[in-house]
Amino acid sequence: MVDFSLTKEQIAMKESIGKFCQKEVKPLAAELDRLADPNDVFPMAEKIIKKGVALGLPFMVIPKKYGGLGADNITVGVVFEEMSKADAGFAGNFGISNIAWLPLLEGGTEDQKQKWFKKALEDESGLSLACWAATEPQGIGIDSDKVWETGEFALNLTTKAVPDGDNYRITGEKCFITGGGIAKFCTILADTPGGPSHFIVSTDTPGFKVTRLEDLMGHRAMNNAVLFFDDMVVPKENLISKEEGNGITEMMGVLGYSDAWVAALSIGIAQAAYDAAFEYSKMRIISDKPIIRFQAVGTLIADMAMLIEAARTMVWKALWTNDSEGIPNPRLSALAKVFASDTAMKVTTDAVQVYGGAGYMKENPVEKLMRDAKVTQIYEGTNQVLRNIAATLLFLGV
Ligand SMILES: Cc1cc2nc3c(=O)[nH]c(=O)nc-3n(C[C@H](O)[C@H](O)[C@H](O)COP(=O)(O)OP(=O)(O)OC[C@H]3O[C@@H](n4cnc5c(N)ncnc54)[C@H](O)[C@@H]3O)c2cc1C
Repeated sequence: MVDFSLTKEQIAMKESIGKFCQKEVKPLAAELDRLADPNDVFPMAEKIIKKGVALGLPFMVIPKKYGGLGADNITVGVVFEEMSKADAGFAGNFGISNIAWLPLLEGGTEDQKQKWFKKALEDESGLSLACWAATEPQGIGIDSDKVWETGEFALNLTTKAVPDGDNYRITGEKCFITGGGIAKFCTILADTPGGPSHFIVSTDTPGFKVTRLEDLMGHRAMNNAVLFFDDMVVPKENLISKEEGNGITEMMGVLGYSDAWVAALSIGIAQAAYDAAFEYSKMRIISDKPIIRFQAVGTLIADMAMLIEAARTMVWKALWTNDSEGIPNPRLSALAKVFASDTAMKVTTDAVQVYGGAGYMKENPVEKLMRDAKVTQIYEGTNQVLRNIAATLLFLGV
């Protein structure tokens, strides 16, 4: 039998994080959204980020035996939705840490997990965040033709990790890295002689440079940076899995989980836009009646509700599958991410329409939500690339 009910623990988490985000995150996020300079965001956001760290938001995926929350995928998804209902930027700041730990969870040895999770959980700065550095200015070059022809994914990375005695020397540039300017830890995808591989490093490693903070269209409370690794010397033991060439498998594992979480984040944005538009449509009176009674507006509202219901059902199925199968399902997660983010874009755009001219004004919440929604179609794999990956996996029968 299909069961859509959450467990007591999941409900408790949803309610407590939802309350924290609505009460403390949302009002601050609205202020941060107006700041012109991304360098001004962190000093104002630091206190709330510390509160989120204290609640364990960056450690949801770290198993309990290492001191993390050990949350299942449905819980992570529900929390991503609650966070982004209040603000997608803050959701990104906390969410990315969970994504960044996935290469270690997927490919790391027991010793590596013990060492790095302990470091993260015992970090006393109150800002124990992690980032995942995969994207490069020239693209990471997923070779679609090779996938169709051989079933193998290939990457063309310019960030190189060159063996040098007991170390690697890592050189290269990574762009658009969420949390890159504030994280304490970073998982880096780099090319080695044995192929693409992940490394885990502390961000205070000499040679780890934050060269620029990005100025984003939406998600303006989210830290996002260009990183440069300047001949950074990293011990060989920091190579995740201790064997070169596992980076692509680990990356597909990351996307298999994270796309479903980003899908849940997208639904949070859509839900916030729907809630605002629905209330407005009952309150705005034209010709003596609430505008929801105009069929054209009522249909917009109904379509928004329909898309959100469909997207959430799809996302929960992907999350549930990842929990029950114990391995990620990249096809379902990719499809859920594409559908949910397209839904977020459509619903937020329609929410602006329901508000009419007022929707275009910054004093109302929906224009921010529309800007926040756009990038969900881009990050964690563009919807074009994810559709391609899904088609390939369907073709391969995976
Ligand atoms: C706000 C933000 C946060 C991000 N956070 C992170 C992060 O934390 N870590 C990280 O590593 N990356 C991050 N990214 C990077 C993000 O994942 C990439 O921007 C995204 O994967 C697209 O890559 P690109 O920007 O190089 O676009 P391009 O690859 O240049 O794509 C340009 C266009 O071509 C299309 N295209 C490209 N290749 C194909 C193909 N094979 N098939 C079909 N269409 C294709 C794309 O869909 C797009 O429309 C973030 C990006 C943003 C904007």
